[in-house]
Amino acid sequence: MPGGCVFCKIAAGEIPATIVKRGDGMLAFTDLNPQAPTHVLVIPTHHVATLNEAKDAGLLGKLLGFARDLAQEVGIAKRGYRVVVNTNPDGGQTVFHLHLHLLGGRPMSWPPG
Ligand code: 5GP
Ligand code: ZN
Repeated sequence: MPGGCVFCKIAAGEIPATIVKRGDGMLAFTDLNPQAPTHVLVIPTHHVATLNEAKDAGLLGKLLGFARDLAQEVGIAKRGYRVVVNTNPDGGQTVFHLHLHLLGGRPMSWPPG
């Protein structure tokens, strides 16, 4: 685990988070600074820095399916939701441990800015 990685620390239980779902090498927890009524982060429990380093197509498929199932479970699937992967500085990434944002509970605007 890279020493300073906050999401590795959450995955290891070393810093607290509100866990929503876990299993199969993945973890979902609520975002500290939510941008929608539902704002959950989905991460692999092992460290992958960005989508650029995520070469395992199986892992990516599992993360997306995990987010899809979570949307169903928290009740936003029917109305709709957004899954976002910010990547590197231009993408707005601030935490360099791969994560999917699952956002819902309000209508989303486009373009995202
Ligand atoms: P990014 O900008 O990298 O796509 O998203 C990082 C997200 O992680 C931000 O939405 C931010 O609010 C969230 N975040 C940063 N630190 C923590 C933390 O310690 N706990 C939780 N639950 N969320 C965090
Ligand atoms: Zn990490």
